[in-house]
Amino acid sequence: MSFPIPDVHSRVATPAEARVDLSAIRHNVSVLREHSRAAEMMVAVKADAYGHGLVPCARAALQGGATRLGTAYVREALELRAAGITAPVLSWILTPDEPLDEALTADVELSAGAVWPVDAIVAAARRTGRTARIHLKADTGITRGGATARAWPELLDRALAAQAEGAVEIAGLWSHFACADIPGHPSIARQLAEFDEALAVADKAGVTGSHVLRHIANSAATVSLPGAHYDMVRPGIAVYGLSPIPELGDFGLRPAMTLTARVAMAKRVDAGTGVSYGHLYTTDRETTMALVPLGYADGVLRGATNRAEVLAAGRRRRVAGRVCMDQFMIDVGDDPIAEGDEVVLFGPGAHGEPTAQEWADSLGTITHEIVTRIGARVPRVHRETAPMEGAG
Ligand SMILES: *Cc1c(COP(=O)(O)O)cnc(C)c1O
Repeated sequence: MSFPIPDVHSRVATPAEARVDLSAIRHNVSVLREHSRAAEMMVAVKADAYGHGLVPCARAALQGGATRLGTAYVREALELRAAGITAPVLSWILTPDEPLDEALTADVELSAGAVWPVDAIVAAARRTGRTARIHLKADTGITRGGATARAWPELLDRALAAQAEGAVEIAGLWSHFACADIPGHPSIARQLAEFDEALAVADKAGVTGSHVLRHIANSAATVSLPGAHYDMVRPGIAVYGLSPIPELGDFGLRPAMTLTARVAMAKRVDAGTGVSYGHLYTTDRETTMALVPLGYADGVLRGATNRAEVLAAGRRRRVAGRVCMDQFMIDVGDDPIAEGDEVVLFGPGAHGEPTAQEWADSLGTITHEIVTRIGARVPRVHRETAPMEGAG
């Protein structure tokens, strides 16, 4: 005997949702294009477009003027292809288990920062009969992926041999900053000098031609280091409207995401009532407590306990007591609130709600972590324009 599973999302209002304004994504890409001297822009859409929903955001970024897309893993790039997106895509974390044959068949460009990925890509090229487009990655000082200066010549040699055989085409030379979000950090100039040196070594080895894209700039470098733009910039966080260097302002970017929930329960309690696990919050008067159905499983980090704020019943309210797996409480005093009322955790900030930046600041983290942690239980609802926008 089987029981039908109701399609709850289509029948009832969801208890929580992350609204994503696609017009903000297009706006942000065009703002970044104005900042950029480079002809090309690759928008990072890894990690489900920073939690904003991979395919709709990738489309919006391309509509806004991005020329390429970037993902961490090949499987993310294959999701773009499965959705019918044909723009160039680069995937930059190659593990030995990555589906390389599928990547080449789907025209996904690959990064190689060592000799073994070149060999693995060559093997896949031979199996599929495809020529792989590869971007060689130099480690200019972040010490993550990429070849150090001492390993760079061997990587170039191996890639050039594979290119001579027709297995690969060297399509890019690239690197990544460690501290571009810390203006004036001495590593920035050092990394740029290392990158220029890596480009010179590549040129001498025979990697030449204007089709070879040189790129190093993330969002922070796109808005603050015009000398680092080269042939392409590679912004991520700024595309979603979050400032890559919050101390320097918002750069005209518009946050795309608004995270909301609907009150699941509201009730009067006495003064001196302990709230949630561990009783880390105690009411100081008779008051109304409201239950917000989002928890750390949904990305409301446990560190938000007694700390982060939300907008509810017309005012800011601090999270009252422990954030639980699926819920947290707020204390609204004598203000009216009822089941089904909307609570805004963060958004653009235009209607009094906190921003993702405020959440990041109150939790001692960066906005990247706030938005990418939002869990799979929270539906992403894509809209063309924020609800209140354009009303006036
Ligand atoms: C994530 C990422 C980016 C974008 O970084 P932001 O700081 O979000 O702009 C660019 N390049 C690489 C290699 C990345 O991993």
